[in-house]
Amino acid sequence: MASPPVVVVGAGPTGVTAACLLASYGVEVLVLDRWTEVYPQPRAVHLDDEVYRVLARIGLADAFAAISRPSEGLRLQDAQHRVFAQFSRGERTGRHGYPQANMFDQPVLEGVLRDAMARHPRITFRGGVEVREVRDGGGPARVLLADSATGREETVEASFVLGCDGANSVVRRAVGATMEDLRFEQRWLVVDVNTDRELDQWEGVHQVCDTRRAGTYMRISDRRYRWEFQLVDTETSEDFASVAALRPLIAPWVAGVPDDDLELVRVAEYTFRAQVADRWRRGRLFLLGDAAHLTPPFIGQGMGAGLRDADNLAWKLAGVVEGSLPASVLDTYEQERRPHATGIIRMAILVGNAMTRGGRVGDALRRLVVPRMHRLPGLRARVLDSATPALTRGPLVRRQRRGGLGGTLCPNALLPDGRRYDDVAGGRWCLVTLDPVEAAAPFGAGSLEVLRARAGDPLGRWLTSGRSRAALVRPDGSVLAASRDVAALVAVLGEVRVSDRSTAVRWRRPAQHAWPCT
Ligand SMILES: Cc1cc2nc3c(=O)[nH]c(=O)nc-3n(C[C@H](O)[C@H](O)[C@H](O)COP(=O)(O)OP(=O)(O)OC[C@H]3O[C@@H](n4cnc5c(N)ncnc54)[C@H](O)[C@@H]3O)c2cc1C
Repeated sequence: MASPPVVVVGAGPTGVTAACLLASYGVEVLVLDRWTEVYPQPRAVHLDDEVYRVLARIGLADAFAAISRPSEGLRLQDAQHRVFAQFSRGERTGRHGYPQANMFDQPVLEGVLRDAMARHPRITFRGGVEVREVRDGGGPARVLLADSATGREETVEASFVLGCDGANSVVRRAVGATMEDLRFEQRWLVVDVNTDRELDQWEGVHQVCDTRRAGTYMRISDRRYRWEFQLVDTETSEDFASVAALRPLIAPWVAGVPDDDLELVRVAEYTFRAQVADRWRRGRLFLLGDAAHLTPPFIGQGMGAGLRDADNLAWKLAGVVEGSLPASVLDTYEQERRPHATGIIRMAILVGNAMTRGGRVGDALRRLVVPRMHRLPGLRARVLDSATPALTRGPLVRRQRRGGLGGTLCPNALLPDGRRYDDVAGGRWCLVTLDPVEAAAPFGAGSLEVLRARAGDPLGRWLTSGRSRAALVRPDGSVLAASRDVAALVAVLGEVRVSDRSTAVRWRRPAQHAWPCT
């Protein structure tokens, strides 16, 4: 076959999402995986509304809604399972138009992603092939693969290779990256149970803050439940291989349910680690997902980080492949994503430590302090808020000051005609403005959408909350720049356009687009 511009190594959630996004931007992709089918074991169970938007952008909003259930919030319990704080979500739909916390079963979501990939004419999937080596030197990148059944080797060439091949990444070796250890390592037991019995529990995440046995419980679907428990040094998963052996741990949630009604789907031991690759790119090779970062799952963000990587890189790569963006934009992938992923991992470590550290003193302090935290203004909202940090400053993120909109995600706000922001501008450049923009017309900014906000509507309120009157939003929804003066953003457009001749962002002229629009 002819060489595809992009080869994706690994058809896990990161690789398939990257492929679907690239294909949606018009890029041909070859996806390779050593297995033909989805990895069947449950792992991720939570995604936030920012990542839901990424799934929506590849057409999977309804499919994800059908396989997920919103979570009601977070409950903190002590060792005796007394609730000492509860943070409940009143509103189910957040600023992005979707529930802020969503529970699901990873293999089911991966099945949905694989189906989407199979439907896409620009994606070719080859399962049953092991990638043995990747090389980037001078010309196109070369991927050496072997048929898992016959061992027959072949080499595929590509303009770019995305290493979405998980924690033991082969592409990471080729990139020459090593994992930096953020110094967290704990052994946990992960338990998935199916039951047709109604457990009648509060439908949020239950966090048991007990230094002797920290634990988490959550409902995943109509009949699937997940528990995670910290293991003590002498224990292994084999000690909990039956419902009877598990009962002492799960008893508070399954009282009165006979063993026969609890079907053990999986009892597995995981060592949760926190690591980030020290480089995410070498030439034509990129690292995404678990190949680039590993996090303990305490805030349910590992897979989400992989999907954010895919979202950040796909539009830039598509622009470079089609020639509308200079290769230099690819440098911003690691510049933007590494600090963001690292920040989220540090937050997960903080939560993990808050749950598990401090011994008896820590337990007592938590019992004393946390119930009073409700009284701190704004804290409840902070605990439940799914917003992740803004991207750091760089060529495609202009942040003038704290609290500004640069680097934040534009909300998927409801528009006056009943559509949402992403229905109109998802996957495209957009100028959101409270003021008229006729002055921008001479720049003829290519695929730029213009959305005219009004003072009282959600987009208008968002702009004013960031003390701005206009924002220039990238295809992945992040704000490149915001200003009180739309003319200043027009100047940014101008700068970008001027520097386009000296290899910065170039704006494509649209085939059909009225300017200015409302
Ligand atoms: C217990 C647990 C709970 C978790 N909970 C959450 C959660 O609630 N929320 C969340 O967001 N994340 C969670 N995670 C993390 C999440 O499961 C991972 O981050 C996610 O699976 C990473 O996806 P990926 O596509 O990057 O890598 P993977 O899922 O590892 O996929 C890599 C793919 O590459 C293929 N591959 C690897 N090497 C090769 C090769 N040489 N040749 C060909 N193919 C290859 C593999 O077969 C696989 O299909 C959890 C993880 C665990 C273990």
